[in-house]
Amino acid sequence: MTITGEALIGGVAVKGEGSSVKAFDPSKRDYLEPAFNAVSEAQIDAACRLAGAAFDTFRATSDGERAKFLDTIGEEILAIGDELIERAMAESGLPRARLEGERGRTVNQLKMFADLLREGSWRDARLDSPIPDRTPPRPDLRMRLIGVGPVAVFAASNFPLAFSVAGGDTASAFAAGCPVVLKAHSAHPGTSELVGRAVAKAVERCGLPKGTFALLTGTGRHIGTTLVAHPAIQAVGFTGSRAGGTALMAVAAARPQPIPVYAEMSSINPVVLLPNALKARGDSIAQQFAGSLTMGVGQFCTNPGMVVGLAGPELDKFAVDAAAALAGTGPATMLTPGIAGAYQEGVAKLAGQSCVKTVALANQEEGKGAPALFQSGASDFLKTHALQDEVFGPASLIVACQSLDEVRQVIENLEGQLTATLQMDEADYPAAAQLLPVLERKVGRILANGFPTGVEVSTAMVHGGPFPSTADGRSTSVGTGAISRFLRPVCYQNIPQALLPEALRDGNPLQIWRRRDGALTKE
Ligand code: NAP
Repeated sequence: MTITGEALIGGVAVKGEGSSVKAFDPSKRDYLEPAFNAVSEAQIDAACRLAGAAFDTFRATSDGERAKFLDTIGEEILAIGDELIERAMAESGLPRARLEGERGRTVNQLKMFADLLREGSWRDARLDSPIPDRTPPRPDLRMRLIGVGPVAVFAASNFPLAFSVAGGDTASAFAAGCPVVLKAHSAHPGTSELVGRAVAKAVERCGLPKGTFALLTGTGRHIGTTLVAHPAIQAVGFTGSRAGGTALMAVAAARPQPIPVYAEMSSINPVVLLPNALKARGDSIAQQFAGSLTMGVGQFCTNPGMVVGLAGPELDKFAVDAAAALAGTGPATMLTPGIAGAYQEGVAKLAGQSCVKTVALANQEEGKGAPALFQSGASDFLKTHALQDEVFGPASLIVACQSLDEVRQVIENLEGQLTATLQMDEADYPAAAQLLPVLERKVGRILANGFPTGVEVSTAMVHGGPFPSTADGRSTSVGTGAISRFLRPVCYQNIPQALLPEALRDGNPLQIWRRRDGALTKE
């Protein structure tokens, strides 16, 4: 398949009307053909209007039809074959095995939402029977969730497949019945075009309206801001930097009709080493920590960027063991020169703090990220807010505390996080019990004795957390719960049977789980 560098608007491939950029191969340090042009404001307007026009037809499709659409996207992605993996490898510098795994995850994610639709309870159907002889009488009340409207999705740089064109945000928006206008990431535009064409083919094969999906190409702030400000857009899914996410939140809030932004931004994912676990198996925790920190050159939102423990010989030994484990990992190619540059700056900033000791730091090379491990005392950490800035890459900071109470204070002082990990043995449970209520307020996922990298795509997963880990801590961007971001409730009061949606009709024609007068039933 030839990659042409075109956007997809209304199912038609069109060249952007703005300035052009080429994809960069970070491993070969060379540009790839062809050039991708930035879409103009008129082209963004056309894509958003078409999405708005498609909404009512798309959301009126049955759950089965949308499930088939999601399955068809998966089929079309697999049908691209090795060309997709080769292009993604060239554009991201990520290895084949990782990208093949990510493709599998992307297809399974689409399938998971298809299964959710077929099961049907996602609509949260509720029926309250009328009570005509009560004073005042209670009306017949029925409620279901519907899609919010067209969703603007910003593809992430660090998952060219699973958080990109047909990733979790797109899959959950489609499942909810929302058309998607997708801003491709300029770190992998060719990969985006291939997947975008797969989605467009699925739209055609399933006979859906042409505005169901659009792919916007190019780089430049005007694309994101015009897209989020467009009146047809009703919600935003974003994964990227804190600066980018908060800028788009401000655009969304300043609209005449403000809209929700679900931005996943920055997290340092503290790992707490409780004393008994540290004493019993500090060496093996250090080994696993080094593996988690350097996996994918640390370019995961769940990277363990902070370790908290009690100061003393055991924590000192942990630092020595972790440094030794990290010594085996040299500089590795990062996703883009910009991300590598930002990483090296972040590392230099940490190393330059007078209260920070460098534990391990290999020489950095252009375009690459080498592991870095630092240490500070808890009192300095509590005084220096910059120590909790995300450094996107394989860098972490050990915070040494004088007491368990100080561990609690350090956690209390943290900004919102995606995850927190407790390394603990049974004798640590009382200390863990003290920390859990604080952690629950601070993070979206609490782990015991594992590492936060590796996010299962499942029903109970939460990949979210209080600001700034995400813009809205009530949401998750991974797992079936991700659909809730793009749904809103509608109540039907005394609406005649013939006009009610099937999900709410008497006799439960869809045979889905519903809550009738408070009780779950399929009756
Ligand atoms: P980014 O700079 O936030 O860009 C993400 C997307 O948002 C791009 O499509 C970008 O468009 C757009 N965008 C950014 N700022 C914007 C603004 N002010 N107005 C309108 N659109 C805007 O993120 P990135 O390129 O993926 O990586 C940069 C840094 O983000 C990394 O170094 C890292 O610190 C962080 N990051 C964090 C995570 C995480 O999960 N925690 C993941 C990825 C990246 P253009 O680039 O085309 O202008």
